Amino acid sequence: VNGGQPYIGRFAPSPSGPLHFGSLLAAVASYLDARSQAGKWLLRIEDIDPPRQQPGADADILATLDAYGFEWDGEVSYQRKQRARHLQCIDELQQRGLAYACDCSRRDLGDEPRSSLGIIYPGTCRTRTNLPTGDSAIRVRTHDDEIAFNDQLQGRYAQKLESESGDFVIHRRDDLIAYHLAVVVDDFDQQITHVVRGIDLLDSTPRQIHLQHLLDFSTPVYSHLPVAINRDGQKLSKLTGANPVRRDQVGETLYRTLQALRQEPPAALQSEATPAIWQWAIEHWHSAALVGFESIDAVAQGFA
Ligand code: GLU
Repeated sequence: VNGGQPYIGRFAPSPSGPLHFGSLLAAVASYLDARSQAGKWLLRIEDIDPPRQQPGADADILATLDAYGFEWDGEVSYQRKQRARHLQCIDELQQRGLAYACDCSRRDLGDEPRSSLGIIYPGTCRTRTNLPTGDSAIRVRTHDDEIAFNDQLQGRYAQKLESESGDFVIHRRDDLIAYHLAVVVDDFDQQITHVVRGIDLLDSTPRQIHLQHLLDFSTPVYSHLPVAINRDGQKLSKLTGANPVRRDQVGETLYRTLQALRQEPPAALQSEATPAIWQWAIEHWHSAALVGFESIDAVAQGFA
């Protein structure tokens, strides 16, 4: 419970392809964390990046979640429908002098130093007085005070944004809303208190907390799950050819997912029906079993 508010969690898949084992882990863990604390669990399709989307992937993801017996609260929300609200927040940041237009091209920035977060934006357009006339992005100002948080699974994590990412894009040059802005606004508007998601987003979190601070939003409790990796040590994703989660063999898959999440389900549960597996999992959920783990071997679990 975050500041006495009732728990509200969520699962927020991007419709870039069918659900694979890596995304199933995030779905199951976020669901169990919410339900074990009598919380709500919302489902949000993050469809703000059409070039990366696959037609029909949203329906496919929903059908898979349904086949697994997930029960989400309320209607499924679609991130693209919040565009006006996203633009309003971007505008507010600009009005307050916290964000600015930038027409630097990738080529202009090609020689700039990089960090693990990408090119560190040197602030070229921060203080210019003549506004760009052509297509431009909007960047949010950053500072070098450390932004730190205590992840429930990974421990303390901190970044100094001005040196590690520089001012980052919140409205893209191609007019799409940047993920960091959209996720922060939607989590706030949906009153999300707990975010359970893959560790690949751990290094995005300080940028999201920075936006929460600027917009005067509260910061949810974060848990970043170990990521499923294949035999080459790569994160399972569409890019690494992860198999879609099958809609038959639900019980068996769910059982192996609980094993992967280190919940040690009893062998007898394997032959039970799906509702009984869920009931056991909710009653026995202990996220502490995942503390400090950065990866889950998908091969050992038979998923890669
Ligand atoms: N839509 C993001 C993804 O599928 C997840 C965002 C989040 O959980 O914050 O990678």
